[in-house]
Amino acid sequence: MKSKVYIETFGCQMNVADTERAATGLRKAGYELTASAEAADVVLLNTCSVRERAERKVFRRIGEIRNEAKRAGRQKKPLIGVMGCVAQLEGETIFQNSPAVDLIIGTRATDRIPSLIERARGGEAAVIDLDERQEGEVWDVSPAERRSPYVAFVPIIEGCNKFCSFCIVPYSRGREKSRNALEIVNEVQRLRSLGYKEIHLIGQNVNSYRPKSQEGLERYSGATAFSRLLRAVADTGMQRIKFTTSFPRDFHTDIVSALEECPNLCDWIHLPVQSGSDRILKAMRRGHNSEDYLRRIDAIRSSKRRLSLTSDIIVGFPGESEEDFENTMRLVRACEYDGLFIFKYSQRAGTPAATLADVVPEAEKKARFIALEGLQESMQSKIYNSYVGRTVSILVEKESARSSEDMTGHSTCHKVVNFRSRKSQPGEIVDVLISQAKPYSLYGELMSKQAN
Ligand code: SAM
Repeated sequence: MKSKVYIETFGCQMNVADTERAATGLRKAGYELTASAEAADVVLLNTCSVRERAERKVFRRIGEIRNEAKRAGRQKKPLIGVMGCVAQLEGETIFQNSPAVDLIIGTRATDRIPSLIERARGGEAAVIDLDERQEGEVWDVSPAERRSPYVAFVPIIEGCNKFCSFCIVPYSRGREKSRNALEIVNEVQRLRSLGYKEIHLIGQNVNSYRPKSQEGLERYSGATAFSRLLRAVADTGMQRIKFTTSFPRDFHTDIVSALEECPNLCDWIHLPVQSGSDRILKAMRRGHNSEDYLRRIDAIRSSKRRLSLTSDIIVGFPGESEEDFENTMRLVRACEYDGLFIFKYSQRAGTPAATLADVVPEAEKKARFIALEGLQESMQSKIYNSYVGRTVSILVEKESARSSEDMTGHSTCHKVVNFRSRKSQPGEIVDVLISQAKPYSLYGELMSKQAN
């Protein structure tokens, strides 16, 4: 009988993409993938370490899996593996702190998981692989392992060279490494022929894309390799193309030009600023100040297309004063974001910021979080209300969790839209007339189906 593997994924889209890739390799090696830990012979937790809370969740989950197996009286306990960012960062110490763990799989060992499991099944204790990727590794993901049959994540760059002082990513994911453009274009073409309607080009810093060769980009002009790639991917005819996350310092305005030229490049840009205070941006080692950032926002706002803009902000970075925070509030007012992800600063061991004194008290971080959230909600409400009476194009994803009469999906500008319709099916692209704005979503009526 085939061994069954269950993979549970925490964290960002890169982790989702790694899980899909790991599942592809496991299935190829003869494993069966299951949807629950109870039925599995091997449980892999694909982990995130960006904030302390995410990391703690993993260790809680290991305890739960071990206890569930005991309670169920299973004769053979499942093998437990930790993969992803926590595995890469903590390595061997996971075995000491969590003796239930059998395998540790670093962020660049995805393709070697089948052989690592074989070693653990063969009786080897404490199997660990934190090594680099090997040349010629396969990025292809089998459609059966993708989390959606309509929306696909396509990694174009992994790792990070930026070393922002708060961030663990350069340590957990290594240096930036871009994929060959022809390989990316071929993958998008394949996805299109399989019926995918939307792809997200993903990477920690997607616009820092810098492939070793020009293969696949020869016919496309542009100021940067990334804007050329956008044009090349748009040329595949894929209906909707999104990309995330962009790094401000590498955000060339030619990206906006590409979006203006190619209607299938979606009208949404995620450009994390992290703070509105130049003093804090310097301490964060972001490589941009608020003026540089606002210049890019001006270019986005002056576009012929109305581009939706979202961002990330950290509140309570060490030394953040009331005045620094006020500057962040001012920047948020100026940017008029369509959406904002707000995080309370979380100290990560090994990052330069972890050595900084002048820690902002938890109560103050919370107060700033609430104040910023309140400001964003009031601004967002105006933006969302401006959609009422407009028709937007939606990729239908599933039945709404609230009502079986409603369907839900995302707009090209990446807003959640729920709408009344018993006639539309997941995977269809439809026009919806917006009748109501809610704080974090829009509501409307189905107008017509587009030629899909
Ligand atoms: N470059 C990736 C990106 O922007 O998507 C980083 C991924 S990280 C999941 C997303 C956000 O987490 C960052 O933009 C930042 O706002 C936040 N973040 C990263 N490190 C953090 C830390 N130490 N404390 C709080 N928030 C953090």
